[in-house]
Formats: sequence, C-alpha cells, structure tokens
Amino acid sequence: MRYLRSTFLAFLFIFSFSVFSQKATYIANSGVLIQSGSSKILIDAFFTDGKGRFLTPESAQLDAMVAERPPYNNLSLALATHAHPDHFSPQQIGKLLFTNKKLNCLATPQVVDSIEAVMVNFESIHDRTLTFPLSRSWKTYTQEGLTVKAAYSRHAGKSNAKVQDLIYLIEINGKKILHLGDADMDTDRFEELKLDFEEIDIAFVPFWYMTNFYGAEFVKQHIAAKKVVAVHVPDNYNPQSLAKIKNFLPNAIIFDQPGQSVTF
Ligand SMILES: [Zn+2]
Repeated sequence: MRYLRSTFLAFLFIFSFSVFSQKATYIANSGVLIQSGSSKILIDAFFTDGKGRFLTPESAQLDAMVAERPPYNNLSLALATHAHPDHFSPQQIGKLLFTNKKLNCLATPQVVDSIEAVMVNFESIHDRTLTFPLSRSWKTYTQEGLTVKAAYSRHAGKSNAKVQDLIYLIEINGKKILHLGDADMDTDRFEELKLDFEEIDIAFVPFWYMTNFYGAEFVKQHIAAKKVVAVHVPDNYNPQSLAKIKNFLPNAIIFDQPGQSVTF
C-alpha cells in the first residue's frame, strides 16, 4: 500500500512537472527557448552573426530547429525583436518557417521585409510572418494557449534610432514572460508601458541595464519582475563587470553559458 502510494505520488509529481513546468533555456546572446507545459517559444534564437562580440547558436542547433528535433519539436511560436544580425537571420527564420508549416512568427516590419528580400518562395510563408502597425499602444496576439502583447520601443543607442524594436510580454499557463530585445532604457516609454503593474514572472533584460545603480533601480521600478535574467552578454566579458550586476541586483541570473536554464 505504501509502495503504491509513493508510486502514485511520484507519478503525480512527474505529470504535474511535465504539464505545468516552466523553463527558459539560454541559446546565445539574447536568444532563449521558453518551455511551458506543451508550449515552446523561441525568441531571438535564429541568427549566425555575433558581430565578432557575441555568441551565436551552434550550426547543429540551428539545423535541429529547422528539422524540428527535440527540444525544438512542436514549436508553438517564433519571435524576433528586431532586424539586427546578432538577434535574427532572415535566411534562418525563412528556413524555419518554410519547413515548419504550422509555425507562426511575430516580428517587426523591418524583420519581415528582410525575410522577403532574401527568400524566393516568401509567398509560401507570408501569412505566417505577422507584424503590427507602428504605434505606441500595446498590440495583442493570441493563439491556442498563449497571448503575446507587443509594444514598439526605441532601440538603444543613437546610431540605431531607426531600428524598430518590439518588447514582448507573453502570457502562458498563468505566467508572464518579458523580453526587451534591445529596447532603450527610456523612462517616459516605460512609464507608458506600465510593466510594473503586470506582475511579471521572468524578464530577459540586456545586461547593460544592470551594471550601474541607476539601471538596476530602473529594472526594479519599471519592470519589477520576480526573476530577472541578464542577456546579450558579450563573449569573454570582463568578470568584474558581471560582478557589478550581482552587486546591484543580487538575485539576477546571468545567461552566458549556452544550455543554462532557469525555471519560473
Ligand atoms: Zn540590436
């Protein structure tokens, strides 16, 4: 009887973990795989050019995404925050959508235009590359089991002022996940977005927000997530600079080792 009960409890634990487990796995740079129950979302994970400074996904990993091999089988959605080569490759995302006929991609108009520019058979994926009109309000996308709110922001750095960047707030199985792309640390814009009212479970934030006191306070006030993960960390980054993040935000998680994961 005791054996039966412990077997039942072990089964229940495994069952509930597989149905309700929420995990984010680091791919490279700002690229992550989100797994929640049976849903899987890739964000900024399809690129090959680290601009000589940032890690890129392994080519075997990119092949596995296209071939839908675990853990990239049954993908629910692909998101691209902006059209920079250290976040997105039009060829890679084009291949992914061409092979996986059920997959939708959310992205900026610049991302979609650049896919169209390199793909001869773009028409075959056109209706699955979804984008939003350029405006300051949140836009909402839903598909079975998940909702994505998207808002445009200015890309960080003056030289990138014309780069469209989308902030994504994903809601899935009762959890909220934020990915900023390369959004500028703009107080006015973040006050409009009111992310601090969202009770975000996990936020993926460019590391440079958190290497000084002002930025760390900005993250606490304007994002106020239960877990914060620093991404976009350059390869061979100075460990002392990473230590600053731990100093200002002791609970922050730093994604700098591919395959690293966090539950939320
Ligand atoms: Zn960028």
